[in-house]
Amino acid sequence: MKFDYAPAPESRSIVSIKPKYGHFIDGKFVAGRKHFPAINPATEEILSQIALAGVAEVDAAVKAARKAYTITWSKMSGRERGKYLFRIARIMQERSREFAVLETLDNGKPIRESRDVDIPLAAAHFFYHAGWADKLEYAGLGTSTKPHGVAGQIIPWNFPLLMLAWKVAPALATGNTVVLKPAENTSLTALLFAEVCQQAELPAGVVNIVTGNGSTGALIVNHPGIDKIAFTGSTEVGKIIARAVAPTQKSVTLELGGKAANIIFEDAAIDEAIEGIVNGVFFNQGHVCCAGSRLILQESVADEVIEKLKRRMGLIRVGDPMDKNTDLGAINSKEQLLKIRELSATGDTEGAQRWSAPCDLPKKGFWFAPTIFTGVTQAHRIAREEIFGPVLSVLTFRTPQEAIDKANNTPFGLSAGIWSEKGSRILWASQQLRAGVIWSNTFNKFDPTSPFGGYKESGWGREGGRHGLSAYLKGVGHE
Ligand code: NAP
Ligand code: MG
Repeated sequence: MKFDYAPAPESRSIVSIKPKYGHFIDGKFVAGRKHFPAINPATEEILSQIALAGVAEVDAAVKAARKAYTITWSKMSGRERGKYLFRIARIMQERSREFAVLETLDNGKPIRESRDVDIPLAAAHFFYHAGWADKLEYAGLGTSTKPHGVAGQIIPWNFPLLMLAWKVAPALATGNTVVLKPAENTSLTALLFAEVCQQAELPAGVVNIVTGNGSTGALIVNHPGIDKIAFTGSTEVGKIIARAVAPTQKSVTLELGGKAANIIFEDAAIDEAIEGIVNGVFFNQGHVCCAGSRLILQESVADEVIEKLKRRMGLIRVGDPMDKNTDLGAINSKEQLLKIRELSATGDTEGAQRWSAPCDLPKKGFWFAPTIFTGVTQAHRIAREEIFGPVLSVLTFRTPQEAIDKANNTPFGLSAGIWSEKGSRILWASQQLRAGVIWSNTFNKFDPTSPFGGYKESGWGREGGRHGLSAYLKGVGHE
């Protein structure tokens, strides 16, 4: 007899999605002119119509942010600003189920992750930065720090509310005002956040949210009224932004792509490492910039790890993101699914061996089974390029130095993982790895107190912690 889980669907009745949304400018919702659909990637259901901001809307949002900066926000004491941040954090907690359900419907990630990771961490970012607002002179960044003014913020679709929190909370704590654009595939929780700003009675214009696509993002980047750009997304768009701001006075931070190495030494606790590998690359469908997408295995334990990993992958529950037992949800969009398929196909043609966990994928929506490629070499595209999906490339090594050389052989440098029971080896390896975040005997752990960001083509500057504050203050951040 085979035991299985009974369905455990989360109810969607807590959210009320409007048929159409406008932009949030100067404290009010303003009707849009053109619209595009918000799609649930698990069902292909059209959830709502989202407004596409053009020149006029972006300009109105920047003017509202400038006015709020000049008249209210830059005049307010840190202590008062902090109260608004605390209020926002508490409202996010109170409405956390609503946020989690909406995030899962719009993004396709499992409700378990939006409920237990995205939303609590988003609230934690506001709490953490609320605490800094009146203590900036004690952050070790100088005693007379000044905000930039108006921050233009552009975020991706993989952690919609969490990336908003990473951007908005430090900007407000340091006294900047904001014009934010969510990704075109995931605007709904940002629009719910706009309601939270109203509920918290945040002064009008301190946070403005304009929805739209890449052209809207470009309008923000190139607007002369913006003082600072904060961007999270692909390295390709990051480079376009870097070029656009180079001849201007704008300050910029970029959080870009990654191709992290997760290194398993032969003395690692293998069963724990298996959990870390799974969490490293299958969390959030692998739509994670710091995903451990290159597994670098010591040859002596490679067969054992691969066998145990396949067995564990067979237990990953793929399907309805609204089911509380689901581990792996829907791929965020049709375009992303095509990109994952295309890059995976190069793994086959270039000679790696593909293995996918046997699972029944739903008929509607966008799905990709958890997959590993063994026999991968450093020359293969699947070892070099970010797949941004539930696909793991496995390479092997014989000596510790070879592991480091392979791990660092990438244009990226966002994160890395080290699995070993030997402290000296962990310290040695972490000093050799050129990556912004290094986890040892764990993976994908996030905390607002800890700076996050990359080396090389993974970005400029840090978000989170004391380092993240500096990005929003004149003269101490990445200019
Ligand atoms: P993307 O295409 O770079 O998009 C990111 C954001 O930029 C979206 O809001 C996008 O609008 C907007 N955008 C597109 N073209 C633009 C332009 N020319 N000027 C200004 N804004 C523009 O990336 P994505 O495909 O959404 O996200 C996946 C990528 O983000 C991956 O490569 C991943 O590694 C990276 N990422 C990095 C981090 C990090 O912290 N380092 C975190 C998450 C994701 P649309 O809504 O139209 O797409
Ligand atoms: Mg969507």
